Amino acid sequence: MTEMTQRQKYDLKRQLEELKSCRGRHTELISLYVPPSKQIFDVNAYLKNELSQSQNIKSKTTMKNVLSAIESIMSRLKNFKQPPENGVIFFVGHKSIGADKTEMVAFIIEPPQPITTFLYRCDSAFYLEPLESMLVEKEIYGLFLIDRRECTIGLLKGNHIDMLKYMTSQVPGKHGRGGQSQRRFERLTEIAAHEWFVKCGETASEIFRQEEGINGILVGGPGPTKQYFVEENYLHYEIQDKIIETFDTGYTDEFGLRELVSAASETMTDLKISSEKKLMKKFLKEVTKTDDSLAVYGEAHIRKALEMGIVDTLLLSENLRKYRVKLTCPSCKYSEWRTMSEDDLEEFDPPDCSECKNPTSMEVEEKIDLIDELSDLAEQTGCKVEIISMGSEEGDSLYSAFSGIAGILRYAVDL
Ligand SMILES: [Zn+2]
Repeated sequence: MTEMTQRQKYDLKRQLEELKSCRGRHTELISLYVPPSKQIFDVNAYLKNELSQSQNIKSKTTMKNVLSAIESIMSRLKNFKQPPENGVIFFVGHKSIGADKTEMVAFIIEPPQPITTFLYRCDSAFYLEPLESMLVEKEIYGLFLIDRRECTIGLLKGNHIDMLKYMTSQVPGKHGRGGQSQRRFERLTEIAAHEWFVKCGETASEIFRQEEGINGILVGGPGPTKQYFVEENYLHYEIQDKIIETFDTGYTDEFGLRELVSAASETMTDLKISSEKKLMKKFLKEVTKTDDSLAVYGEAHIRKALEMGIVDTLLLSENLRKYRVKLTCPSCKYSEWRTMSEDDLEEFDPPDCSECKNPTSMEVEEKIDLIDELSDLAEQTGCKVEIISMGSEEGDSLYSAFSGIAGILRYAVDL
């Protein structure tokens, strides 16, 4: 199963918020989960049966609404020869929009993880549990154990530990055999140890770099070797950057992986927060620099820096709740983009077109979540995107002091 990116998680969270807010006046909202293994033909047959069952609903309006929702799903189903890779979910029905009015809504979702069970529900709210459970944090951590004799590389996914590689070294023990000069022996030992560390560093870097979405790396082992290994930068810098902490373990084999996880588990719940904190601290430190600051903030500056391709990490508050809105003049087709908050947008009265002689009101043609729009821009230039949660001092300050958008540059530029 592929892990979700931060971006997918964010998108799913937002989608769930919207779905949760939908209420039917009666049991007339339909949720249909189609797993990848299900034949579209079977789904159709199932819906046909529901369609005829629903003729018996007592309330005329409810019956009409349910029938039209099922028919809507059946017609959309025609676009599928077979379910997509992870299956597909339909949320369709008449949601209440107050004052006795309803509005037909239809959401078709290809979930980021596979649906396991076929499910049909008709209720006054959409049934979201299976989708919500995909959001439960399944953090991934790289596990790395080293001393001069052994090296073990593994992954922690949720609560599951995977051992990926176990290696042993040819580095001789501390004490030489007779016949060699002690100095020569020590020199050879150090060369062998260095070669061993290089090999372990390269192997671990290669493995961890192939694994997408690693939240951090935990390093363990007995004695000071692990510390030395970390300080001497034997790992690729991208992997080195992800090291969260080193822990003492008695073993450096598969058993050591479990030791490492249990040693780290106390801090584990804070790990996600702490890796976000680390990034924010880096940013805040740059902000205070007067010369060669790598900090960038303010939407206009961020956009400029992204276009120049000089942003290393883009930091976005999960609480941002803004949209990029495209206004178009229906008469002359002149258009412009604006950034607006959710509240702005609700009471928005579009201005008159600046290009037309006769006053023509512009219309909202398109709206994109600002996090999605900026993430797209960032991804085009190889910039990393971190969605920072609220609830820590650093996360809150990104939202309140920097309007939820900040970045760390690859190199200092006067914008
Ligand atoms: Zn116009």
